[in-house]
Amino acid sequence: MSDFSSLMKQANYIGGKWVGADSGKTLDVTNPATGEVIGTVPDCGAAETDRAIAAAAEAFATYSRTDLSFRVDLLHKLVQALLDNQEPLARLLTAEQGKPLAEARGEIAIGAAYVRWFAEEIRRAKGEIVPSPTSDRRLLVTRHPVGVVGAITPWNFPSSMLARKLGPALAAGCTMVIKPAEATPFSGLAWAKLAEDVGFPPGVINVVTGSPAAIGGAIMASPDVRKVTFTGSTRVGKLLIRQSADTVKKVSMELGGNAPFLVFDDADLEAAVQGAMISKFRNMGQTCVCTNRFYIQSGIHDAFVERLKEAVGELKLGEGTRQGVTQGPLINEAAVQKVESFIADATKKGGTIVKGGGRSDLGGTFFEPTIITGANGSMNFTREEIFGPLAAIYRFGEEKEAIEAANATAYGLAAYAYTRDVGRIFRLNEELEYGLIGINSGLITTVEAPFGGLKESGLGNEGGSQGLEDYLELKYVCMAGI
Ligand code: NAP
Repeated sequence: MSDFSSLMKQANYIGGKWVGADSGKTLDVTNPATGEVIGTVPDCGAAETDRAIAAAAEAFATYSRTDLSFRVDLLHKLVQALLDNQEPLARLLTAEQGKPLAEARGEIAIGAAYVRWFAEEIRRAKGEIVPSPTSDRRLLVTRHPVGVVGAITPWNFPSSMLARKLGPALAAGCTMVIKPAEATPFSGLAWAKLAEDVGFPPGVINVVTGSPAAIGGAIMASPDVRKVTFTGSTRVGKLLIRQSADTVKKVSMELGGNAPFLVFDDADLEAAVQGAMISKFRNMGQTCVCTNRFYIQSGIHDAFVERLKEAVGELKLGEGTRQGVTQGPLINEAAVQKVESFIADATKKGGTIVKGGGRSDLGGTFFEPTIITGANGSMNFTREEIFGPLAAIYRFGEEKEAIEAANATAYGLAAYAYTRDVGRIFRLNEELEYGLIGINSGLITTVEAPFGGLKESGLGNEGGSQGLEDYLELKYVCMAGI
């Protein structure tokens, strides 16, 4: 089945009901590859969000006390529903986001894998009995769901970024108010539809679309929301951290990145080029772990650039549903202009375009995959996230110089390095100030491992056993007079 119409809900899901905005207003959702409006979603604000929070708070009272096996079974049913609907969900994702169908299918699969992982992990969320200093006491440490969770997700991975929040939250016994990104709301709404179909009780999952400031503001102001999990830009993340202070909410923040990719002279050139391609051009460069800066050691620099040019030449732009397409459009016109301004800045400061460099003949928001050599620290993309198909290549001499340059940023999400020197691999692990490090691999995300950034790239982790911790609170109970 590939028709996604039954999964494309053009309504919000609040308290187990599909509803519109109080005002009746809607927002158009467009296909970035064609510019066509594919549907509309309610343009909601604070009032609807407050009702969603109230529904989630009411549901929490019962859902948090359900049998563990009840929640685990529901989550496994949700996994099955996602896999049974992988094709229409992928097509819906491609229609609203633009990514090639193969990448969209992969995103649905990893989303399902995250939910399965947390359904398994919750069975091992053990407490502790801590040895007491005196014989008449027993010291218990127990774990409890944190409460209503507000989840705000981005447009670049509208399905899998939700999975990493929804999986642990629902496994732990939390209930949720979800705000998907305005550009890609249908994927999140489809999750609510499938959750309803498999039997999650009303109010456990609520999805509200519309004004980010009004919905976000209501979530952040509510004392009933005990935790907020956000994936998006560092700018909005900082705003939410500030807004969390008044009600002292727990926050998990998956924010922006500025990933360095280091290739040393001893690297396997073919492997490095393959890793460079996936870490740079997947999702048209619109991933938080995308390489932003390539640092290539002098001895391998020219050969690396030549091979990268060839590999980039093999990329195929087009509508994500077309056979053989590897690159979709950028999400919107602003994203195109941002890449153009990085290119203009870099060429003014001595960079050379060796591949691509401009808008594609396909028009719209299609952009040629681009390589710039001769990059230097004065160029804007040295400090700012590109979020587009532009590979900036810097040349370096010594290991120390590359590590210093790699760390010279406020971000600390992903870093990559290609080398066969075991001593250097350990030095890189210790010295690179990044939460995710790929050694001889450009694609490292997996449900089993924690995913989180250092410095201004975030707080907390998603995935791994650590990804559950953020949804559980500890209580220490001292039992005296035993
Ligand atoms: P964004 O502009 O920060 O938006 C993210 C979400 O926040 C969207 O749902 C957006 O709503 C919402 N939002 C915007 N303003 C808000 C406000 N005042 N209050 C509450 N919510 C608000 O980021 P984006 O452009 O969608 O995503 C790209 C960014 O996400 C990049 O920086 C990327 O690195 C980062 N990212 C990080 C990770 C990670 O795991 N570390 C993963 C993926 C992406 P609207 O869409 O409706 O405006």
